[in-house]
Amino acid sequence: MAIPLPHQALAASPNLLLSALPPNDYQRILPYLKPVALEAGRTLYEAGQPIQRVYFPTECTISLLMSSAQGTDVEVNTVGREGFVDVITCLGGGPSLYRAMVLTKGRAWQMPAAMLKQEFRHGGMLHELLLRYLQNILAQSAQTALCCRLHSVEERLCCWLLSVHDRVEQDELELTQELVAHVLGVRRVSVTEAMAILRQAELIRCTRGHITVLDRVGLERRACECYHAVGKNAQVALQASHAATRSLISTQQPMPLHHWSPALTAA
Ligand SMILES: [Zn+2]
Repeated sequence: MAIPLPHQALAASPNLLLSALPPNDYQRILPYLKPVALEAGRTLYEAGQPIQRVYFPTECTISLLMSSAQGTDVEVNTVGREGFVDVITCLGGGPSLYRAMVLTKGRAWQMPAAMLKQEFRHGGMLHELLLRYLQNILAQSAQTALCCRLHSVEERLCCWLLSVHDRVEQDELELTQELVAHVLGVRRVSVTEAMAILRQAELIRCTRGHITVLDRVGLERRACECYHAVGKNAQVALQASHAATRSLISTQQPMPLHHWSPALTAA
């Protein structure tokens, strides 16, 4: 159950898509946005289910998972405050392609899917931003396919830890090894071995239910190319969105933009 929060509680940690909206557009959709707190491990919807609500994370991260017939999950996308779930809402609706699970707890804006669909059909700046984000999600999915096929568990683990670190913006991540194995779609023992290597190199520290990032630069050196490739695509999409905002709404000031993390902007 999502816990409702006062609107003011989310003011200090905006979602990047919403904060890129010109003020008039933002004010129009504000009545339909409800601030909620989401607990880790919660399933927002299953694959094949209709999507009733969409979520714009401001603190939490959400995993979009594909499941095999045998029940093994693999994460296709990680979504934080740079995006929202689920883009299928903007593509005519229909059931979700993925299971959406809260990876790390935190706050989000919740909105009726029907309202987002209506706003998307109106065109305008939200339409433009969501299309840019869709482009980013597709790029991330393609890169994930390549990553699963070609890169080692250790490389993938570094890449994934960095992507979560970017989104939660704190060194201590509330993640169990079991959960990490689950979203990477690999055996638990493989994750344990990879984490042991990173621990010995003093890049991370593992305690019960927590992984602490000690050396971010070291993780970047060991991560596969996918980390920077995905970050570069995200940055291009975000810059294009803000360029569009400035050109279309020249008389208005966009809402305050919070920056991508240095790692995402560096590529
Ligand atoms: Zn990779």
